[in-house]
Amino acid sequence: MPDSALFLDRDGVIIENRPNYVRSWADVAIYPQALRALSRLSHWPGKIVIVTNQSAVGRGLVAMGDAEAINQRLVQEIAQAGGRIDAVFMCPHAPADHCDCRKPAPGLLIRASQALSIDLQQSIMIGDALTDVMAARAAGVGVSLMVRTGRGNRQLRLPVAQEVAPFAVYDTLSEALAQLF
Ligand SMILES: [Zn+2]
Repeated sequence: MPDSALFLDRDGVIIENRPNYVRSWADVAIYPQALRALSRLSHWPGKIVIVTNQSAVGRGLVAMGDAEAINQRLVQEIAQAGGRIDAVFMCPHAPADHCDCRKPAPGLLIRASQALSIDLQQSIMIGDALTDVMAARAAGVGVSLMVRTGRGNRQLRLPVAQEVAPFAVYDTLSEALAQLF
């Protein structure tokens, strides 16, 4: 039977957003509230999956292996704090590549659903960008919501936010998870 999943954007949801991209582990600052919230969720039976755009790879700013190593270390740090990430799906492409996986395209979510046998309609997406919500809708994810951390507050003030609405908004990942689970 397919699992439900909690899809999480990485930058701005679990770790701080960086204006010049997360290029090395030194750029990674995990939100303490996110770390604690993920540890509380560790026994949830669904899959917990990070879906992240990392165009710094496609722009030639970060090597693919380095980007993957950052994801691996993040997963380890979350595990050491008592949490769990089942998989990370990353789009390494630049916008000019016109790939099918850079959010707002649904490719990462669709790939995850196939690889992990996930029922997208029974799943949840949490992001800090309208493109996260748009990707989730395009993939058929049942519930998508935004957090105000990272780019969230600025994104919510954009005129296009009215067109993408309605979606629930929470201050942080911790608050969103406390409401959902
Ligand atoms: Zn891509």
